[in-house]
Amino acid sequence: MFVASVAAFAAQVARRVQLIAVAPQTFSLDNLGFRITRFLVDVVLQARTIRERPITGIAHAFVFWGFVAFGGYTLTEFLSGLGIVDLTHTAWFTAYRVALMPFAVAVLGGILFLLIRRAFVRPVGLGTKVSIESIVIALFIATLMITYLLTFRLEEGTMAERVNWWTHMLVILAFMALIPASKHFHLVLSPITVLLKSPELGNLPNLDFEKEQVGLETVKDLGSKSVLDAFTCVECGRCQVNCPAWGAGKELNPKTIILQTQEALLAGVGDRKLGEVYSEKVLWQCTTCGACENQCPVGIEHLPVLIGSRRGLVSNGDAPDYLGAMYNNLERRSNIWGLGYDQRTKFVQSAGLETFDATKHDVLVWLGCAGSFDADFQKSLRSLFAILRAKEVRFGVLSKERCNGDPAKRTGNEYMFQELANGNIEDLKAAGVKKILTSCPHCVKTIGNDYRKFGYEVEIVHTSVYVEELLRQSSAALSGARETVTFHDPCYLGRYAGKVDEPRNLLTRFGADIVEPERNRDNPYCCGAGGGLLFADKEEEPGSRISDVRFKQLQATGANTVVTACPFCSIMLKGAQASAQADTQFVDLMTYVKDRL
Ligand code: SF4
Ligand code: SF4
Repeated sequence: MFVASVAAFAAQVARRVQLIAVAPQTFSLDNLGFRITRFLVDVVLQARTIRERPITGIAHAFVFWGFVAFGGYTLTEFLSGLGIVDLTHTAWFTAYRVALMPFAVAVLGGILFLLIRRAFVRPVGLGTKVSIESIVIALFIATLMITYLLTFRLEEGTMAERVNWWTHMLVILAFMALIPASKHFHLVLSPITVLLKSPELGNLPNLDFEKEQVGLETVKDLGSKSVLDAFTCVECGRCQVNCPAWGAGKELNPKTIILQTQEALLAGVGDRKLGEVYSEKVLWQCTTCGACENQCPVGIEHLPVLIGSRRGLVSNGDAPDYLGAMYNNLERRSNIWGLGYDQRTKFVQSAGLETFDATKHDVLVWLGCAGSFDADFQKSLRSLFAILRAKEVRFGVLSKERCNGDPAKRTGNEYMFQELANGNIEDLKAAGVKKILTSCPHCVKTIGNDYRKFGYEVEIVHTSVYVEELLRQSSAALSGARETVTFHDPCYLGRYAGKVDEPRNLLTRFGADIVEPERNRDNPYCCGAGGGLLFADKEEEPGSRISDVRFKQLQATGANTVVTACPFCSIMLKGAQASAQADTQFVDLMTYVKDRL
């Protein structure tokens, strides 16, 4: 029985290992210190599992810690049962066996809680079908703990004790044969997956065109980390319930993406197009908000698959029409709206901005597409300039900027991204820029993280962070009643950059009492603009608009003023406000501060 169980386990594992081994190699262990720390926090301490769902997470942690604690016990019993060496009567084993008792009680309590939740409570993220396999596995674990606890009650050598021992051992053998084909394989894989997960959220290594890399077209193009991810998914649905597209009723479900990957890999359909595996339509619904990847407790990375597949589609000319128009704008005019640079020049002149000179200026203010061309956002930049001048910060701007390339990168047009990025890097290097200040969180991510992959490193700071530090000694000049506001965290500021306290500190210091909306701080609900969806025709999409869902969440706080800190969140949410004909007031963070300085 032991041999049969091990053989069944090994055969299934070998199939999966083989699929990982033949995939293009994408494993990396860079930044090992960070990875080890995250491993200790997320795997050993189960922090990510507990954080979002504390009760369920603690129940799971009990089962996990018990699983680890029982490892030596199980091994010793097997060595004895197989007649290899009997250590079960040694003093240390007796002490170890007793020490396991609290673990067994905790595991039993935890697994019964999880069993009831799966079988009867059925939260939405777990899907509509009751998984028989999960019920069987939960009953197996409960049986293991009960049979272990019974060893203290049953007299050695009696028939009851033999039956109890055999039950325990047979359940372990059945468990071993079952797990590789089930979601419980995460027991084995998730520590490895967490260790191999990129330290950077939404990490998208550059394509090497000289090596004719074009992105992911078919199943066999999926990288080794994505293949490993597919077999690690525990189907908890945390990615699903945090996905704004799924939340707004779109077809995209990040959990389904991972399970479809698994199914395609095991079916051996290496040449199947990923656009068919997932459906092209679904691939274009992702805002790249990063919630799925950030919430996944087992280290799965969705964005390399989603954006990698977009890259494959774009390389074959299969991007949606609205992106074709945006790419055209980027190609002709280097900005997303295709506007003439004379408009940017007019703004630069009217705002009295100097061209950056490394000998004269401390920082470069990066305007971005919105700052260069969007009249509404330019008001917010004027507020920023007023604050900087009041505090005697010496700043300048580039005489010409291209789009940072984020909309091309996140929609899979890598060629266009690299053209824009290389041009900007050249200009930034030529100007001798050491520190960049920007009000666009997408610029922070792209220039700070993606440009680094070309070997260009520069300090880039979001204005909320810079101004918070600059005005640490200042407070509201206005007297009188404090105002109740709500703050919408942009995904690329709160989740990607982890900057959640600075905007709040500024608001509080300048007279605001903040009421938090649902989904806030480092897990905000997206405004719906990211991943090129700013340009999509929202009327054509199924479900609600993501921006409408977010606007309702903000409205539900009861605050009449919504403060934003990203030009694209501002555009999307104002659009939602107009559709709702609500009288909510939107204020950009810089304007809010400047008006009270
Ligand atoms: S990145 Fe955001 S929108 Fe895209 S699948 Fe993940 S959670 Fe959904
Ligand atoms: S991908 Fe991660 S978060 Fe989503 S269902 Fe699988 S394990 Fe859960």
